[in-house]
Amino acid sequence: VEPDPQAGAAVKAADRAHVFHSWSAQGLIDPLAVAGAEGSYFWDYEGNRYLDFTSGLVYTNIGYQHPKVVAAIQEQAGKLATFAPAFAVEPRSEAARLIAERTPGDLDKIFFTNGGAEAVENAVRMARLHTGRTKLLSAYRSYHGGTNTAINLTGDPRRWPSDTASAGVKHFWAPFLYRSPFYSANEAEESARALQHLEDTIAFEGPHTVAAIILESVPGTAGIMTPPPGYLAGVREICDKYGIVFILDEVMSGFGRTGKWFAAEHFDVVPDLLTFAKGVNSGYVPLGGVAISAKIAATFDKRPYPGGLTYSGHPLACAAAVATIQVMEDEKVVQHAAHIGENVLGPGLRELAERHPSVGDVRGLGVFWALELVKNRETREPLVPYNASGADAAPMAAFAAEAKKNGLWPFVNMNRTHAVPACNVSEAEAKEGLAALDAALTVADAHTV
Ligand code: PLP
Repeated sequence: VEPDPQAGAAVKAADRAHVFHSWSAQGLIDPLAVAGAEGSYFWDYEGNRYLDFTSGLVYTNIGYQHPKVVAAIQEQAGKLATFAPAFAVEPRSEAARLIAERTPGDLDKIFFTNGGAEAVENAVRMARLHTGRTKLLSAYRSYHGGTNTAINLTGDPRRWPSDTASAGVKHFWAPFLYRSPFYSANEAEESARALQHLEDTIAFEGPHTVAAIILESVPGTAGIMTPPPGYLAGVREICDKYGIVFILDEVMSGFGRTGKWFAAEHFDVVPDLLTFAKGVNSGYVPLGGVAISAKIAATFDKRPYPGGLTYSGHPLACAAAVATIQVMEDEKVVQHAAHIGENVLGPGLRELAERHPSVGDVRGLGVFWALELVKNRETREPLVPYNASGADAAPMAAFAAEAKKNGLWPFVNMNRTHAVPACNVSEAEAKEGLAALDAALTVADAHTV
């Protein structure tokens, strides 16, 4: 593609004049003008090409511009570009069937939304109506979305400016052995202590007041902390004991990211409600939803469900989901993600950790990996303080700049970089990403003590 800096300048100028960006101080940002994308790469108007180790916001699970999904959207646009949610239309019926066939256990009814936060809002509403209770328990290290209840459920600092105590949300500590809130020495201890802490929290809140516990099956933005064996099964038992609805948020971890269709499969648990979005159609058209168990669906057999969205199950979004799931089956994308994790990214990242003193911990599975960067491996002091910005965050900014100089667009959150490429990233591309990370980590190493 020919560079066209003039076109890029026009895109940038209109953006800076009129686009109000998410999560940002509008006067302090400098968004890259992107000219195009294909597969695992995108490029700017200056002729720079980047390997995307972020999958957008961890959602382009089959990469950019997959021709079969693009064609399916075009075809659906030609046939029936939109239709209201109260009717049965082919792409919506088919998407629901294909999703329900892949979600665990008896999660066989699908309520469609436009994205993850709306999925969480509706899952919570279902749980509250099903139980007649209001309180919600969620983990401190979590992200559940930007709308009111979803942001209150969120554990990370994005919650702070929008925290409204009235939402009835209580936070607890989920397991995370590397920075154990329970001073555990091993996974078994961490799992047992985290479960005891959760049960104690419920006892003090009043079990009869708790509608739902929501957890990401594998927490994403908060740091890709694969739960220790037994933890999610233990939460399932606690929920059953107290009649609490168990919601697993698979907005980020679902649709192949962990090398399974859903991360819950790794732990043999079936939640009562499962939220999804992102990878369901690789984000080509906005789509999310809630997969609903038979028990909760039955609550709304005779009683109307008091929630809806104009674009629930939008035909273009659903046609993209049908095509994406078909592509993932035909091209064995889920198996490929597992293979890349086991044979390329996992070993490659561990090898980088051996050589770079700034890497304190490597963890993940599939195409869902985190490197936790530290000032010192013994003390585990983070490379930058929790929630640092500006000059305090400079070492991570320097790391990211070096990665970009080497043609890699990295995911950076606090003191972590996540290696979260498309599920169909090739071995050669994954290795190219590891090489760029190698160079960038040398910059991070300079900040170790
Ligand atoms: N839940 C999880 C686990 C997420 O990672 C996200 C987004 O990153 C959301 C919910 C919110 O999804 P959306 O941004 O589509 O509303």
